[in-house]
Amino acid sequence: MNLTCLDDDPRMERTLRRFAGQLGHGLRYHATSAAFKEDVLRHAPDLILLDLELGRETGLAVVQWLAEQGVRAPLVLLSGHGDELLDTARRIASASGLTVQGAVNKACMVRDLPPLLADFVPPPAPAAQGQAILTDTPDSDGLAAQIAGGQVEPFFQPIVACDGRICDAEVLTRIRLSDGSVLGAGQVIPLAESAGLILPLTEALFERLLAAREPLRGLGLDHLSVNLSVAQLDVALTTALVRRLVDGLAGCCRVRVELTESSCLSDSQAVRKLGAQLRLLGASLAMDDFGIGYSSIRALAELPYDTLKIDLSFVAELFDSHKAERLLGAMLVMSESLGLTVIAEGVETEAQRAWLCAAGVDRLQGYLFGAPMPLADLMQSFGRAA
Ligand code: C2E
Ligand code: CA
Ligand code: CA
Repeated sequence: MNLTCLDDDPRMERTLRRFAGQLGHGLRYHATSAAFKEDVLRHAPDLILLDLELGRETGLAVVQWLAEQGVRAPLVLLSGHGDELLDTARRIASASGLTVQGAVNKACMVRDLPPLLADFVPPPAPAAQGQAILTDTPDSDGLAAQIAGGQVEPFFQPIVACDGRICDAEVLTRIRLSDGSVLGAGQVIPLAESAGLILPLTEALFERLLAAREPLRGLGLDHLSVNLSVAQLDVALTTALVRRLVDGLAGCCRVRVELTESSCLSDSQAVRKLGAQLRLLGASLAMDDFGIGYSSIRALAELPYDTLKIDLSFVAELFDSHKAERLLGAMLVMSESLGLTVIAEGVETEAQRAWLCAAGVDRLQGYLFGAPMPLADLMQSFGRAA
């Protein structure tokens, strides 16, 4: 494998050569960006090691150059300026279209770089551009017809406790097409919001949930979570819809309503009223996607949330930097002191599960436990007889 490195500190060369040699890789070392750039254009690297501190030039200018050249080789960023800078540089590089294999603090290089190099597998050559998959995305008339035609279908994603027991399920909207395929929420919800169809869609979804009351009861769930869109919010109608669901599912499970914080900016008085009404009906109220908007803490102060769902981006980045771990830890301390139940979303690996449970998360949701699925599959996997 061809490792190509740019670092203006000549003392680094020996260390890096030793690491590369131990793994049987060649190293092309450059102390100036001019030599590095010329070499990258001549000998396509498999992996690039890039120091961010290059004297007068910064590594970020080199990142930009690599992106402009369309270089596909993954990048390992090195810096002596600490994890925070590395983390931001990693985001800049990724957003420029480069693949970042890792970011290593030079203070910990002896410990952190060799395993990163040992684990590295060069990406396969790009496959020929295949036929794009065309999805049958509806327009607003099509969506209205699908809603009226009973094609709205709830999918259910399990939410588990740290011992793996299913506690809750989140309902995610799908549209079932006549050929049996399904449209995802991303294709349906934004269209429903912009076309003024979110109320009929939500109503159709809730009807399906009420019809599924008996099988759902067999799961023994604490909560069934539904998402509410507060675009063009009608507090009275929305409250009436949730009241019907809460009443209809009494004796089966409690209802939790998930609101996204961004939605809370739109009309704060209406959203405050909605939040208060929902709690008065006995529903639980969760802040969805916590941490990614700009008003999370403000919204926590203003609305009667009892649950916080940590956005999946924090879970995905958990092991990328110490900063990510500390941020998540701080969110958990804050939630604990506010008495909030915390659900971590997007849990995909056992390592994430173990970290989150040790840190005090109450509930977990993600592909590790199950993707959103039709009711029949949920019953089969998690029903009491399963
Ligand atoms: P959300 O409420 O944040 O829902 C979680 C999304 O993350 C779901 O996408 C789910 O499939 C996905 N997900 C679950 N586990 C994992 C994981 O381990 N890794 C990753 N990468 N993703 C995971 P989905 O079903 O496409 O829903 C997208 C969004 O659409 C939802 O985000 C929610 O905001 C909205 N939505 C879905 N159903 C409804 C609905 O009935 N009403 C409203 N208003 N919005 C809805
Ligand atoms: Ca949600
Ligand atoms: Ca979410």
